[in-house]
Order: sequence, then structure tokens, then C-alpha cells
Amino acid sequence: MIHSLNPQQQQAVTQPAQHTLILAGAGSGKTRVLTTRMAWLMQHGVSPYSLMAVTFTNKAAREMLTRLNALLPIDTRGMWVGTFHGLCNRLLRLHHQDAGLVQSFQILDSADQLASVRRLIKGNGIDDEKYPPRDVQRFINAQKEKGIRPALVEAYDPHTRRLAEIYELYQVQCEREGVVDFAELLLRAYELLQNNIPIRQHYQQRFAHILIDEFQDTNPLQYAWLTLLGGQQAQLFAVGDDDQSIYAFRGADISNMKSFERDYAKGNVVRLEQNYRSCGHILDAANALISNNSDRLGKKLWTDAGQGESIRIVEKASDALEGQWVVEEIKALINDGFPHDEIAVLYRSNAQSRVLEHHLFSSGVPYKVYGGQRFFERQEIKHVLAYLRLIDNPNDDTSWLRVVNFPTRGIGARSLEQLGDFSKQYNCSLYRAVPYMTGRAGTNLAKFVALINQLAAQAQMLSLPELIEQVVHDSGILEHYKSDREGAERLENLQELVNAAMVFVTEEGLLDEVAGRIPVTTEPQAIDDNGNAVLAAMSPLGAFLTHASLEAGDNQAQAGQAAVQLMTIHAAKGLEFDAVFITGLEEGLFPHENSLAELNGLEEERRLMYVALTRGRKRVYVTLAQSRMLHGKTRYATRSRFLDELPDENLKWLTPRNAAPVVASSWSGGFGRGGSSSWDKARETYGGPGGMASTVAKSGLIVGDQHFRVGQGVRHAKFGDGTVLTLSGSGNEAQAQIHFREAGTKTLALGIAKLDIIVGG
Ligand code: ATP
Ligand code: MG
Repeated sequence: MIHSLNPQQQQAVTQPAQHTLILAGAGSGKTRVLTTRMAWLMQHGVSPYSLMAVTFTNKAAREMLTRLNALLPIDTRGMWVGTFHGLCNRLLRLHHQDAGLVQSFQILDSADQLASVRRLIKGNGIDDEKYPPRDVQRFINAQKEKGIRPALVEAYDPHTRRLAEIYELYQVQCEREGVVDFAELLLRAYELLQNNIPIRQHYQQRFAHILIDEFQDTNPLQYAWLTLLGGQQAQLFAVGDDDQSIYAFRGADISNMKSFERDYAKGNVVRLEQNYRSCGHILDAANALISNNSDRLGKKLWTDAGQGESIRIVEKASDALEGQWVVEEIKALINDGFPHDEIAVLYRSNAQSRVLEHHLFSSGVPYKVYGGQRFFERQEIKHVLAYLRLIDNPNDDTSWLRVVNFPTRGIGARSLEQLGDFSKQYNCSLYRAVPYMTGRAGTNLAKFVALINQLAAQAQMLSLPELIEQVVHDSGILEHYKSDREGAERLENLQELVNAAMVFVTEEGLLDEVAGRIPVTTEPQAIDDNGNAVLAAMSPLGAFLTHASLEAGDNQAQAGQAAVQLMTIHAAKGLEFDAVFITGLEEGLFPHENSLAELNGLEEERRLMYVALTRGRKRVYVTLAQSRMLHGKTRYATRSRFLDELPDENLKWLTPRNAAPVVASSWSGGFGRGGSSSWDKARETYGGPGGMASTVAKSGLIVGDQHFRVGQGVRHAKFGDGTVLTLSGSGNEAQAQIHFREAGTKTLALGIAKLDIIVGG
């Protein structure tokens, strides 16, 4: 098991019991060392029950278990291996009473949380210009990540004082609704251990070894949680790479590595320098890029794998063409024998995935999107999940408001306001406030309550997939989408949800993992304050809802089918692929414009690019588009500065490299607010007209009495609203490639297609 490791790795794996820090660059075998260490410990008499391992993504956690299983023939199912959120969830489900939670508490993802904050602000008549929901949300999460409850917020000015009050109101609302946001999961779990001595002692005695991967990304609360859980007895084994710290925006703090070295490892630091993942060109380019950052802990990385292939760079006129090219190239790779799941397409922002998905889908290449945002965030899925949540917990006001009038059942905004007043007056949920309502609104609301109650009764008898089908039918959602223009696709997605539930209930291991139910063989019963045994068991429904919140997006591809992997760079951390496409290398997108305003924001973006490059084993592609549709607008971009930071000798341009970064002369709409975005700044800096996007954008095409321009918003009777991507030809030959928000990209003859130009679009 350890013979395949190099001497430094072996030393790390076979450490005597002592706190250890492994500080090493990408691909040097940190994760491999960590998993081998776990296996080695178990071989040397340590019980799996007394091990805990933490990492940052569900995919990485699963990967860890897979690697462990390959090393040792043991049942890893009951082991405490997971993400911070997943393990905290498990802890809170087990001890929900002590944590002051209802057992069936639901987890709010960040979109739910925003909706909840928005509702709170509205309901309390708070000025949302002074206190924009997004800012309030950020404030609340930042406090929680520092472990600060409302009463302890340091507020020296009226504005902050008010924010603290809103934070307090938000907490009350969450309690009433039995919901918990992501940051709350961590803070609650921390407070549970902090305040409840028997529980703390139980876990402190239990865990003899705590191993942490991606340690550079822990925030202070996670660090405190780990050290509290570790107590005096556990050996902490932390592995990390300061150059891959990419969660500063969520409070991650590299100084944790320094504190850990000082307070725990005390000089017991192992460095690994050989990279086993990437070939020379990739490694050299990544090293050169990251050398532009200051304040690094400093590491060397080398490989004996040879130079391999250069990094290929491709520049296209639009994101649609970029996506098309990527998919063509993927097909070629597959032809050359690259396995599907050894090909990854990475992007900086989730919104980029839609175009890529579109092209993959139309060419029939199986793919899978990881991480957040996608499947479980689709409107129709969220609607059905909201019904399921109400069945599980009718006091969940966020879910209530989402579907009380969806599909429409004659419950208007006025009635809901009135209902809201009653709920405030009697300090109860909206569901419980219904009996106070009179008149037609009262009748309609009572009908809705009856629907929920009746579904809840059926939930007792039906399997989870059956229940979902029942909900889709009885709620009227089925009818609604049947008569809807884009309903067919939505109904397919709902079928997919039923499938996901099916997979979920059959894979019992998954159920245990999520429900926090641990096979009794490995888990002695947890104890509560009074020394009583507590073992939480959730309903499959509750477990599934938790799963949906924690693992959004993971269930959409058919299990076992080899698929091209799509994910954000954040989600790709720790993973590796034979071929990697890094897309959207444009100023403002990557580096992201929001980062540029922040202190050290650019350095964090650069680390992100470093992470992206170092995912590749054999081949890395970097692509960019001169114009891009994002959030309903076309934006023109200059080439990302990161491209210019890569050494020429490691690159191969597949399309001509422009002497100057490409700039459009026609600015067709802002992405950020106001005119001070980095995009504008970039335009000022580079000035001057450039590539082809600008020429077309400037002149446009006149057809009849209409003047079309690239980037312009148009409306089509059948396809709906869209944006012009390219224009070509003239007169009868005039054509436009148009991206329709709902219908996708179409090429239309301008003389025939009846298009309206959207003014200001
Ligand atoms: P990252 O910083 O990206 O998380 P890492 O340091 O965790 O990277 P691993 O994922 O553990 O690196 O290892 C990278 C690759 O190198 C893996 O495929 C791993 O199996 C392989 N590897 C690690 N050590 C050795 C070794 N001694 N011999 C052969 N292959 C190795
Ligand atoms: Mg790793």
C-alpha cells in the first residue's frame, strides 16, 4: 500500500500519532497521502469509528471513500467522511433536540435564503434600497461565519445596528419555519459542541484522528469547530496548498494554516514536491501564472513526466461559437479514445454552463453538470420540492409562498398580505394563520391547506417516487405544464425528479449518509444531556429533501453512464482529468469583475486559474469568446490578463493570436451596475477598435425598415425574446444567428422571420 509512495509521502503516511501539516502544491499526492493514512491507521488497529475526514465538495468526499475502499476491503458507509456541511447536518440530525431544532428541519440553499430575507424585509416594512436583500444576506452569513449571533454584533453606527436587528428578525423567522441556512448548519453544530458538555465529550473521546483535506479553505468557524471536536485527544492531520485557496469570499483564511502550524503541528510540516498529475507544459504554465501572486508560502513543484503537449488556446467570436467548438473538440477527443468522464469543461460562473449544455445536448454527447445551481434549482423542480417541504413541515413559509398560488388558485397578493398580518399578530406560520381568514380568500386558502394535509396523509402510504408523482398530479402542476409552451421540457425534468427519488431510495447507503442514520453496528448510541440514548431517524422524504439541498445538481445524469463533466472551477478543486477545457477567459468574467474591486481579489482569481490549469493531466485547452450572452445581455470582452501571464513556450494558439486584446467599439449594455465596471475600465485602458465583433456591431444590417445590430434584443412570435449573436449577408440573403433565451440558438433569414426589435434591449 505504501510502497508506491515516494519517501516524503511514506513519511507522512506513517507519522506517529502527532499533529501534522502537509503543505504541498497541486497534484503532489496530498489527497492520496490522506486517504492512505486513513487506511494505514486502520491497518494498525485504529477503528474506523474513531476516524473522521473532512473535505469541501460532495464529489471529493465520495472520491475519498472510493479510494479508501480500493485500499481496504471495509464497509465505509457509516464512517464520518464528508463535507463540513454534511457532517454538521449529521450531527444536528442526531442531536436535534439539544441543538434546539425540529428534527425535520429543512436546509435553505442560498437562493432560498435570499427569498426568505427578501420576504422578511418586505414584511417588516424595511427600506430595501437602504437594506438590499443581497447585502443583508451577505451580512448575516458573514456574522455567522465569524460565529457571531445578533446580540453580539459589534455595531457602532445606526446602519449596522439596524442590520443586526434584521439579522435577529431573520433568526426568529427561521426558527418559526424550522429552516436552517448553510452558515447556520456550521454555527449550530459548533454551538452544540461548545455548550453541551456530554455531547462534546462523547465526540472528543470518539475521534482519535481528524483528517482535513483542502485545509487552506477552512474559515475561522470551521477551524474552531475542528479544534473543538478534536479536543485534547485527537490527532489533527491537515493537508493543504495556500496557492489553491479560493474561498476567501466565504471567509476562508490562509492564516489558519499558519495558526495550525504554530499551535498544533509545531514544526511538523511535510512538504511534497513531485507532481504526479500533469505533464511539463501544464505545470510550467501554472507555476509561471501563480508566481505573479505575492505573499505565498512558497513551494517548488517538478515532474518527471516530460513536457507533454502545449496548452491549446482558442478564441471565438461568440460564446455560442466557443461552445460549438468545445463540443466538436470533445467529439474528436472521444474518437481518439479519451473516456467521457476524463474530459472536463470548467467555467468561472454557473451561468456559462447553459450554452455548453445546449451544444452538448444537441450533439448527443452525454454530460453531467456538477455543483449547485442546476437541476434542483430549476423552477419546476423547486415548485415540487416546495410542496414536498410543506408536506414535511407545513410551517415552512418560504415554501408556502412559493406554491400557495402556483398553479394559480385565486389567492392574490392582497390576501397573502392579510394572511401575513395574521401570522404576525398571532406569531404563527402562514399555514396556521389560515383559519383567521374569511371570505373567498379564506375558502381558497382552506382548500390549499386541505390539499397539503391530504398529500401529507398519503405520504404515509406511498413510496417517495410515488409521492412525487402524486404531488405533481394533485397540485395541478401536471395540468399547468401540459398547457404551457415550454411545458414538455419541464415535465421531463419532473420525471427526472421522480427518477432521482427512485435512485435515492434504492441506494440505501446514500440514504444513511444523508439522513445521519448510521448503521447501528458501528455507531454506539449517541447520548443526550440526561445520558439517554438518542438516535435520529428521518423519514425518506425528509432525507431526500436534505439531499436535494446539499447535493443540488448531482442526480441529473443517469447513474453509471460515462459522461463529460461540467462544473465550475470551484467545484473542480481536488479533481483531475485527462483533458480539461477552461472556458471564458475574458476580463470581467475571469478574473471576475466583482473580484477586482476587492482587496486581494485578483490574487484569489489567479489562484482559481491555477487550480483550473492543474486539473489537467495530459491536455489543457483555454478558450475565450469576444462576445457573450450573460443574464440576457451581450457583453464584449477583452482577453483575460491571465492568458498574457502564461509563458509563450507552453502555449499553442489554434486560432490567430491578436496582437492586442480584442475590444468592441459598441458597448451594448452593462453587466454590473453603473458605468464603472471593470469592463468599461478595460475598454478605456485598451481603447481602440479591434476584432470582428466590433465591425459588425458598429455597422449592423439594415433589412426593410429595421436596423439590426449584434447584441441587440429581438422578439420572435414563436421563439420569444433573444439576442442577435451574428449578422451576415445582405438583402434577401441577410441572416442572423439569434440566441433565444428559451428556444436556444437559431439562424433566421431576416427578410422572412418576423422579428421585433426590443427598444433598449
Ligand atoms: P490537489 O492539490 O489538486 O488536490 P493532491 O496534492 O491532492 O492535488 P492527489 O490528487 O493526491 O494530489 O494526487 C495527484 C495524482 O497523482 C493522483 O492521480 C495520484 O494517484 C497520483 N500520485 C500521487 N502520488 C503518487 C506516487 N507516489 N506515485 C504515483 N502516482 C502518484
Ligand atoms: Mg487533493
